[in-house]
Amino acid sequence: MNAAPPAAAAPPLLAVRALCKDYGGERVFAQVDLHVARGEFVAILGESGVGKSTLLNCIAGLDTAQAGSVHIDGTDITALAEPAQALFRRAHLGFVFQAFHVLPHLSVAHNVGLPLLLQQRPDDERVREVLDAVGLQALAGRLPQTLSGGQLQRVALARALVHRPQLILADEPTGNLDPATAERVMDLLSTQVRQHGAACVLVTHSRAAAARADRVLTLTPTGMADLAAPCPAPLGPSPRAGD
Ligand code: ADP
Ligand code: MG
Repeated sequence: MNAAPPAAAAPPLLAVRALCKDYGGERVFAQVDLHVARGEFVAILGESGVGKSTLLNCIAGLDTAQAGSVHIDGTDITALAEPAQALFRRAHLGFVFQAFHVLPHLSVAHNVGLPLLLQQRPDDERVREVLDAVGLQALAGRLPQTLSGGQLQRVALARALVHRPQLILADEPTGNLDPATAERVMDLLSTQVRQHGAACVLVTHSRAAAARADRVLTLTPTGMADLAAPCPAPLGPSPRAGD
């Protein structure tokens, strides 16, 4: 009898290959490769205007790249027609937009609960739990226009996490927060990755936020670069003799 084949390495949850993006014939980035495993937290740094937000939009299928591919959990998101793509996003993605994109006529709680409602599984208890986690429980009934930038940022984060997505794309999610609140937000993202096996791609300018990631990469016009030793290596087993 044949032996069982060796277990194949799990495919990455996110596989971006040779992605190239132009706007009006002007190159933003080219040859971007990015693989992120389940349970992995990756931070992307890069100069302003290098295309970090554009890259996240292309990964989510909200923008179209000129070349390359994006697979999420084995699905080529760029090959899906728009309605299927929207359904795929609802089920698998949590997106923290840099500009928040909250709906102005909905209360904080209704904004946060929207991803659950769109999947026909409203869950007020879960909405309360996530609002509590971002420290906004007292503001659940308020309209977005009455909130500060930092509060809106936490609404955007709560909305991205409420449905426990497999892949979290977070665009500068701590950009408007004081250090203590930023730390709390990073704890929340980290918990979602470590305890629930989600994958997270975090775009940030904050070295403190990036230091929470498993890997730190830098987006450049010609591709993704590894940032060597972004922070002191965590304590771990000593190298084996002979290594
Ligand atoms: P980052 O997030 O790294 O600061 P962006 O992804 O926002 O950068 O932008 C990358 C580049 O693409 C910038 O030069 C920006 O001006 C340009 N850009 C972004 N969105 C558009 C658009 N919708 N149309 C044309 N150019 C755009
Ligand atoms: Mg940006």
